[in-house]
Amino acid sequence: MLRTHYVADVGEKEQGTEVTLAGWIEDIRNLGGIAFLLLRDKTGRGQLTCIKKEAPDIFESLTGLTRESVVAVTGPCQKNERVRNGWEVLPRRVTVLSTADAPLPMGVADKVNVDFDTRLDNRFMDLRRDEVQAVFRIRDTFIAAAASFLAGQGFLQVHTPKITRASPEGGTEVFRIDYFGRDAYLVQSPQLYKQMLMATGLDRVYEVAWYFRAESHDTTRHLNESTALDVEMAFIDSEEDVMAVAEGVVHASLEAMAAERAEELALLNVELEVPRLPFPRITYDRAVEMVAEEKDFTWGQDLGTEEEKMVGRKMEAPFYFITKYPLEAKPFYAMPDDDGRMARGFDLACRGTEIASGAQRIHDPALLEKRLRQLDMNVDNFADYLRSFRYGMPPHGGFGSGIERFLMEALHLGNIRECILFPRDQKRISP
Ligand code: ATP
Ligand code: MG
Repeated sequence: MLRTHYVADVGEKEQGTEVTLAGWIEDIRNLGGIAFLLLRDKTGRGQLTCIKKEAPDIFESLTGLTRESVVAVTGPCQKNERVRNGWEVLPRRVTVLSTADAPLPMGVADKVNVDFDTRLDNRFMDLRRDEVQAVFRIRDTFIAAAASFLAGQGFLQVHTPKITRASPEGGTEVFRIDYFGRDAYLVQSPQLYKQMLMATGLDRVYEVAWYFRAESHDTTRHLNESTALDVEMAFIDSEEDVMAVAEGVVHASLEAMAAERAEELALLNVELEVPRLPFPRITYDRAVEMVAEEKDFTWGQDLGTEEEKMVGRKMEAPFYFITKYPLEAKPFYAMPDDDGRMARGFDLACRGTEIASGAQRIHDPALLEKRLRQLDMNVDNFADYLRSFRYGMPPHGGFGSGIERFLMEALHLGNIRECILFPRDQKRISP
């Protein structure tokens, strides 16, 4: 490797010895006879101190660099109390690995506000900033902790197709693609496939899945390409079994994020509170009562953004479930209650924003077909899906939770685009 040490790995032991650091030159202060450079790698920043009369060639080459150029620098490390990390490196050999053009498309270290579009147009630069990287380090911990929690509960990680002929939630919000001259779609979610897997005996599966949704709304909490944690489990008693897993995932991952990402959370000024289990549950009817205190609302509709916010303000806990939705507010595959009026579905919300939706599903193929017909959906489009219900399908349920949606709420970021590397929305398909 080109380096012997990352900046953060230089300690007491390295003092007086030679090290090779490699990274980006963030700042150059040339005072004439002496120059101070800041070298940044993924672990932090270290000072290079270059004295002209000791090493004139190296002084020239280092002070002549453009900011954000990439170098490998070798030299003795020595203590210096005036430097933030207590040491500096005196460069004796320098290899310029890549020279950055000037001017830079945006600053990395400067605290100047750049508009969001400029940041996204130059995402590779934007991601050099600590607070931007912090989001993706926390995201990594979230997914790893969720996966580890689910593995501990006997869930198997799976990957289902993203190109399909049938679209789970109806026809309008899908991206159509040309599949060798035939129409195909990008999946809106792994819904149909993860349910089909319940007919296999695998029993408990999860997927870190891609959702492709051609929704034309332009909001701060929707993307047209997003990722989600999708869970499905068989032999459940009711949707309560699914909710226990959903709250377990949230709880375990928040705990891991708080424990392992204190530095990143501090950069984002976020104090993560790990909510107590179990999360409160309120019924849809109760939520409607809360909404009715503030505005007229027709029973039966799904709660919209405004209504979700109203409920969120009235709940004390940050995370809570809304249960027992009217059947018409949930997708065709949601299991109806005994009287057929309500669905055994739930939403998990964080401070007034939906972060997950789940349900016990219908496992009786006749009822499933009946529901499709009631909703005027084309049964033929679901032939493969329905077939998997005819030869032994246990009761099952699951949920889907948007990864960016969850992070945006947990980290109090105002825009979901902050939580995905290269966002896709109506206006943006590049970079
Ligand atoms: P919403 O009502 O918030 O638009 P939804 O009810 O249409 O979401 P579901 O089909 O229930 O979404 O999807 C499950 C989860 O996936 C949601 O709770 C949310 O966390 C996430 N999600 C759904 N659509 C999007 C999107 N367009 N962008 C980002 N995340 C999404
Ligand atoms: Mg939903």
